[in-house]
Amino acid sequence: MSGKFIKVTCKDCGSESVIYSRATTVISCSVCGATLTAPSGGKAKLVGCKMLEAME
Ligand SMILES: [Zn+2]
Repeated sequence: MSGKFIKVTCKDCGSESVIYSRATTVISCSVCGATLTAPSGGKAKLVGCKMLEAME
């Protein structure tokens, strides 16, 4: 099964981003630069953000 995109909100500034759930790179918030996700075991681990919803 392939990954999907999820909408997340930054814990620091609250801005919303859409990220790939299997992102293999660190993703940073485009507004405040906080680390949102870190790759972990083939999945993007949410470290500085909260998931809002899954996108189709
Ligand atoms: Zn932010």
